[in-house]
Amino acid sequence: MAPYILVVEDEPDIRDLLEFTISRSGFDIYEAESAEDALKILDRGIPELIIIDWMLPGMDGIDLAKKLRSDDLTKDLPIIMLTARGEEADKLRSFEVGIDDYVTKPFSPKELMARIKALLRRTGAPSDNSLSAAGIRLDLNSHRLYINDKDVTIGPTEFKLLELFMRNPNRAFDRSQLLDRVWGRSVYVEERTVDVHVLRLRKILKPSGRDHIIETVRGLGYRLAA
Ligand code: CA
Repeated sequence: MAPYILVVEDEPDIRDLLEFTISRSGFDIYEAESAEDALKILDRGIPELIIIDWMLPGMDGIDLAKKLRSDDLTKDLPIIMLTARGEEADKLRSFEVGIDDYVTKPFSPKELMARIKALLRRTGAPSDNSLSAAGIRLDLNSHRLYINDKDVTIGPTEFKLLELFMRNPNRAFDRSQLLDRVWGRSVYVEERTVDVHVLRLRKILKPSGRDHIIETVRGLGYRLAA
Protein backbone atom coordinates (compact mmCIF):
# COMPACT_ATOMS: atom_id res chain seq x y z
CA MET A 1 0.00 0.00 0.00
CA ALA A 2 1.17 3.53 -0.75
CA PRO A 3 1.33 5.93 2.24
CA TYR A 4 -2.20 6.86 3.17
CA ILE A 5 -4.44 8.40 5.80
CA LEU A 6 -7.13 6.26 7.35
CA VAL A 7 -10.42 7.87 8.31
CA VAL A 8 -12.78 6.15 10.73
CA GLU A 9 -16.16 7.87 10.67
CA ASP A 10 -19.69 6.46 10.57
CA GLU A 11 -21.42 9.54 9.15
CA PRO A 12 -21.29 9.41 5.33
CA ASP A 13 -21.46 13.22 4.89
CA ILE A 14 -18.47 13.82 7.11
CA ARG A 15 -16.61 10.95 5.49
CA ASP A 16 -17.21 12.56 2.09
CA LEU A 17 -15.98 15.91 3.34
CA LEU A 18 -12.85 14.29 4.79
CA GLU A 19 -12.27 12.37 1.57
CA PHE A 20 -12.59 15.54 -0.49
CA THR A 21 -10.37 17.61 1.81
CA ILE A 22 -7.60 15.08 2.27
CA SER A 23 -7.36 13.74 -1.28
CA ARG A 24 -7.24 17.28 -2.64
CA SER A 25 -4.09 17.80 -0.57
CA GLY A 26 -2.40 14.91 -2.35
CA PHE A 27 -2.78 12.20 0.28
CA ASP A 28 -4.25 8.79 -0.41
CA ILE A 29 -7.18 8.02 1.84
CA TYR A 30 -8.90 4.88 3.09
CA GLU A 31 -12.28 5.05 4.77
CA ALA A 32 -13.75 2.87 7.48
CA GLU A 33 -17.31 3.09 8.83
CA SER A 34 -16.43 1.50 12.15
CA ALA A 35 -13.52 0.61 14.40
CA GLU A 36 -13.93 -3.03 13.38
CA ASP A 37 -13.63 -2.00 9.71
CA ALA A 38 -10.55 0.07 10.50
CA LEU A 39 -8.82 -2.86 12.20
CA LYS A 40 -9.32 -4.96 9.06
CA ILE A 41 -7.73 -2.25 6.92
CA LEU A 42 -4.86 -1.92 9.42
CA ASP A 43 -4.19 -5.64 9.07
CA ARG A 44 -3.12 -4.97 5.50
CA GLY A 45 -0.88 -1.98 6.18
CA ILE A 46 -0.15 0.93 8.51
CA PRO A 47 -1.17 4.46 7.43
CA GLU A 48 0.80 7.67 7.96
CA LEU A 49 -1.92 8.94 10.24
CA ILE A 50 -5.40 7.97 11.42
CA ILE A 51 -8.42 10.20 12.00
CA ILE A 52 -10.94 8.66 14.38
CA ASP A 53 -14.42 9.86 15.15
CA TRP A 54 -15.13 9.64 18.87
CA MET A 55 -18.69 8.33 18.61
CA LEU A 56 -18.82 5.18 16.54
CA PRO A 57 -21.28 2.31 16.52
CA GLY A 58 -19.75 -0.77 18.14
CA MET A 59 -16.28 -0.11 19.47
CA ASP A 60 -15.95 3.66 20.09
CA GLY A 61 -13.09 5.92 19.06
CA ILE A 62 -11.40 5.92 22.45
CA ASP A 63 -11.35 2.14 22.65
CA LEU A 64 -9.97 1.94 19.14
CA ALA A 65 -7.23 4.42 20.07
CA LYS A 66 -6.39 2.39 23.19
CA LYS A 67 -6.14 -0.74 21.10
CA LEU A 68 -3.82 0.95 18.62
CA ARG A 69 -1.57 2.25 21.40
CA SER A 70 -1.25 -1.20 22.94
CA ASP A 71 -0.14 -2.83 19.68
CA ASP A 72 3.55 -2.62 18.74
CA LEU A 73 2.74 -2.04 15.07
CA THR A 74 0.50 0.95 15.72
CA LYS A 75 1.71 2.32 19.05
CA ASP A 76 3.39 5.34 17.38
CA LEU A 77 0.71 5.93 14.77
CA PRO A 78 -0.32 9.62 14.83
CA ILE A 79 -3.97 9.90 15.90
CA ILE A 80 -6.35 12.82 15.41
CA MET A 81 -9.67 12.45 17.22
CA LEU A 82 -12.84 14.04 15.89
CA THR A 83 -15.17 15.18 18.65
CA ALA A 84 -18.57 16.85 18.66
CA ARG A 85 -19.11 20.01 20.67
CA GLY A 86 -20.02 19.29 24.25
CA GLU A 87 -17.44 16.58 24.67
CA GLU A 88 -14.83 19.07 25.86
CA ALA A 89 -14.63 17.48 29.28
CA ASP A 90 -13.71 14.20 27.67
CA LYS A 91 -10.80 15.65 25.79
CA LEU A 92 -8.59 15.20 28.79
CA ARG A 93 -9.41 11.52 28.69
CA SER A 94 -8.44 11.36 25.03
CA PHE A 95 -5.01 12.77 25.79
CA GLU A 96 -4.53 10.19 28.51
CA VAL A 97 -5.11 7.50 25.92
CA GLY A 98 -2.37 9.06 23.81
CA ILE A 99 -4.31 10.94 21.15
CA ASP A 100 -1.96 13.40 19.45
CA ASP A 101 -4.52 16.03 18.52
CA TYR A 102 -8.27 16.55 18.29
CA VAL A 103 -10.54 18.50 16.02
CA THR A 104 -14.02 19.63 17.02
CA LYS A 105 -16.91 19.12 14.61
CA PRO A 106 -18.00 21.04 12.64
CA PHE A 107 -14.43 21.62 11.50
CA SER A 108 -12.95 23.82 8.82
CA PRO A 109 -11.24 21.69 6.15
CA LYS A 110 -8.37 24.17 6.07
CA GLU A 111 -7.75 23.85 9.79
CA LEU A 112 -7.95 20.08 9.64
CA MET A 113 -5.34 19.92 6.87
CA ALA A 114 -3.08 22.30 8.80
CA ARG A 115 -3.32 20.03 11.82
CA ILE A 116 -2.67 16.90 9.77
CA LYS A 117 0.44 18.45 8.24
CA ALA A 118 1.68 19.78 11.57
CA LEU A 119 1.24 16.39 13.18
CA LEU A 120 3.05 14.60 10.35
CA ARG A 121 5.90 17.09 10.62
CA ARG A 122 6.06 16.59 14.37
CA THR A 123 6.04 12.83 14.30
CA GLY A 124 7.87 12.15 11.03
CA ALA A 125 7.19 8.81 9.43
CA PRO A 126 6.63 6.39 12.34
CA SER A 127 9.37 3.93 11.38
CA ASP A 128 11.84 6.55 10.15
CA ASN A 129 14.26 7.35 12.95
CA SER A 130 16.17 10.21 11.39
CA LEU A 131 16.96 13.93 11.66
CA SER A 132 16.81 16.20 8.63
CA ALA A 133 17.84 19.77 7.90
CA ALA A 134 19.15 21.63 4.85
CA GLY A 135 19.36 18.53 2.65
CA ILE A 136 21.25 16.68 5.38
CA ARG A 137 19.77 13.53 6.86
CA LEU A 138 21.14 11.55 9.78
CA ASP A 139 19.79 8.02 9.99
CA LEU A 140 19.95 7.29 13.72
CA ASN A 141 19.33 3.57 13.29
CA SER A 142 22.12 2.84 10.84
CA HIS A 143 24.33 5.77 11.95
CA ARG A 144 24.67 7.00 8.40
CA LEU A 145 24.83 10.47 6.96
CA TYR A 146 23.04 11.34 3.74
CA ILE A 147 23.50 14.62 1.94
CA ASN A 148 21.02 15.14 -0.90
CA ASP A 149 20.25 11.41 -0.49
CA LYS A 150 23.88 10.49 -1.11
CA ASP A 151 25.61 8.30 1.46
CA VAL A 152 28.55 10.27 2.96
CA THR A 153 31.27 8.76 5.15
CA ILE A 154 31.35 10.15 8.70
CA GLY A 155 33.25 9.11 11.83
CA PRO A 156 31.38 8.23 15.05
CA THR A 157 32.44 11.38 16.91
CA GLU A 158 31.52 13.68 14.02
CA PHE A 159 28.19 11.84 13.79
CA LYS A 160 27.47 12.51 17.46
CA LEU A 161 28.47 16.15 17.10
CA LEU A 162 26.24 16.64 14.09
CA GLU A 163 23.39 14.83 15.84
CA LEU A 164 23.64 17.17 18.84
CA PHE A 165 23.70 20.23 16.57
CA MET A 166 20.76 18.99 14.51
CA ARG A 167 18.71 18.27 17.60
CA ASN A 168 19.36 21.83 18.81
CA PRO A 169 19.38 24.10 15.76
CA ASN A 170 20.69 27.64 16.37
CA ARG A 171 21.73 26.84 19.91
CA ALA A 172 25.30 27.74 20.74
CA PHE A 173 27.35 25.22 22.73
CA ASP A 174 30.61 26.00 24.44
CA ARG A 175 33.46 23.52 24.26
CA SER A 176 32.88 22.02 27.70
CA GLN A 177 29.21 21.44 26.91
CA LEU A 178 30.19 19.70 23.70
CA LEU A 179 32.72 17.59 25.56
CA ASP A 180 30.12 16.56 28.12
CA ARG A 181 27.47 15.72 25.57
CA VAL A 182 29.55 14.10 22.86
CA TRP A 183 32.47 12.52 24.70
CA GLY A 184 30.82 12.09 28.08
CA ARG A 185 31.83 13.46 31.47
CA SER A 186 33.97 10.55 32.49
CA VAL A 187 36.40 10.94 29.61
CA TYR A 188 39.24 13.40 29.95
CA VAL A 189 39.70 15.22 26.67
CA GLU A 190 41.26 18.61 26.07
CA GLU A 191 38.96 21.35 24.84
CA ARG A 192 40.90 21.80 21.62
CA THR A 193 39.89 18.25 20.68
CA VAL A 194 36.45 19.74 20.07
CA ASP A 195 37.94 22.13 17.51
CA VAL A 196 39.66 19.25 15.75
CA HIS A 197 36.41 17.33 15.36
CA VAL A 198 34.40 20.38 14.35
CA LEU A 199 37.01 20.95 11.64
CA ARG A 200 36.62 17.37 10.50
CA LEU A 201 32.85 17.74 10.48
CA ARG A 202 33.11 20.86 8.32
CA LYS A 203 35.41 18.97 5.95
CA ILE A 204 32.77 16.24 5.61
CA LEU A 205 30.11 18.85 4.82
CA LYS A 206 32.31 20.92 2.50
CA PRO A 207 31.96 19.00 -0.80
CA SER A 208 28.21 19.62 -0.67
CA GLY A 209 28.76 23.29 0.23
CA ARG A 210 27.20 22.87 3.66
CA ASP A 211 30.22 23.43 5.89
CA HIS A 212 29.00 26.98 6.65
CA ILE A 213 26.05 25.66 8.68
CA ILE A 214 28.43 24.86 11.55
CA GLU A 215 29.19 28.35 12.76
CA THR A 216 31.86 29.53 15.15
CA VAL A 217 30.39 31.65 17.93
CA ARG A 218 33.20 33.96 18.94
CA GLY A 219 34.27 33.68 22.54
CA LEU A 220 31.92 30.73 23.10
CA GLY A 221 31.94 27.75 20.78
CA TYR A 222 29.82 26.48 17.95
CA ARG A 223 26.29 26.26 16.71
CA LEU A 224 24.30 24.94 13.77
CA ALA A 225 22.75 27.79 11.78
CA ALA A 226 19.33 26.61 10.68
CA1 CA B 1 -20.04 9.42 14.75
